[in-house]
Amino acid sequence: MDKILQVRDLEVSFKTYAGEVKAVRGVSFDVKKGETLAIVGESGCGKTVTVQTIMRLIPMPPGIIKKGSILFDGKDITKLSEKEMERVRGSEMSMVFQDPMTSLNPTMRVGNQIAESLIKHQKMNPRDAKQKAIEMLKMVGIPNAEKRVDQYPHEFSGGMRQRAMIAIALACNPKLLIADEPTTALDVTIQAQILDLMRDLQKKLNTSIIIITHNLGVVANLADKVLVMYAGKVIERGSLNDIFYNPQHPYTWGLLLSVPRLNTTKEERLASIDGTPPDLFAPPVGCAFAARCEYAMKVCYEKYPPDFEVNDGHQVACWLKHPMAPKVIPPIGKGV
Ligand code: SF4
Repeated sequence: MDKILQVRDLEVSFKTYAGEVKAVRGVSFDVKKGETLAIVGESGCGKTVTVQTIMRLIPMPPGIIKKGSILFDGKDITKLSEKEMERVRGSEMSMVFQDPMTSLNPTMRVGNQIAESLIKHQKMNPRDAKQKAIEMLKMVGIPNAEKRVDQYPHEFSGGMRQRAMIAIALACNPKLLIADEPTTALDVTIQAQILDLMRDLQKKLNTSIIIITHNLGVVANLADKVLVMYAGKVIERGSLNDIFYNPQHPYTWGLLLSVPRLNTTKEERLASIDGTPPDLFAPPVGCAFAARCEYAMKVCYEKYPPDFEVNDGHQVACWLKHPMAPKVIPPIGKGV
């Protein structure tokens, strides 16, 4: 599979009156054609800033790309002019946001919002664009699309609005779709339908997807590969099976242990990860998870761990993987 996106050593900061927030600190990853990459981690871990930088949606200033490159289909996104970026956004890569009500234009008919990008990027005439908008609404499973195309977002249910957002995002057949918590604002049955829809559309259109989520159920449903982020860094990466069945980082263990299971007994309480993430104004020199990690050693506070290779494509930034580290029985998976 060819790579559609290559992010290398990306560093993004925000200048504030209180100092510089180092939101993304040296992130690298690839996305292949037709592949789904999930980025997981708690709020403030840098996952949303990473994808917004890929879309060049972070306001600059206060945002600054301090270092790194983002190669999308051969073009370095960090070097494109705003005009060139406008062409890329919408036609070659597009984004689905968490809350469709705030991302759809409430004063514009849904059909016109789909047609807009077709007219702008594919130079379609308005009649053909409307016809294509109807096709797109049908494709994302909106019944009675011929009537719905002329309605406003407030006339759609929450699930239908998210389907309409997906229709807008896919209208120009982008090579990369970025979905930022696309199901968080929806109830569980609708969440499942939206995930099914994204999976079906991906198969049909061979679109690459980056999905940002804190919901590991969403990851299990959709992802081929997973990046686990913590305090602006990727701390573990691997295939879906690597992360779910052979996790290696204590933070990934904590994330997995905090997921409710069907076989959990009444007496068993869900695990939580005690403590809070570090201050990104002055991130620690060592492992950013050390203050919350029950396995932390002296070296963890002094030096950031390198990426240790677990197997092909599975890497973990944790000193427990060092050959001299003490052996640990993990609370989940096969362990270190
Ligand atoms: Fe814990 Fe050390 Fe591994 Fe960080 S490097 S997760 S502190 S054991």
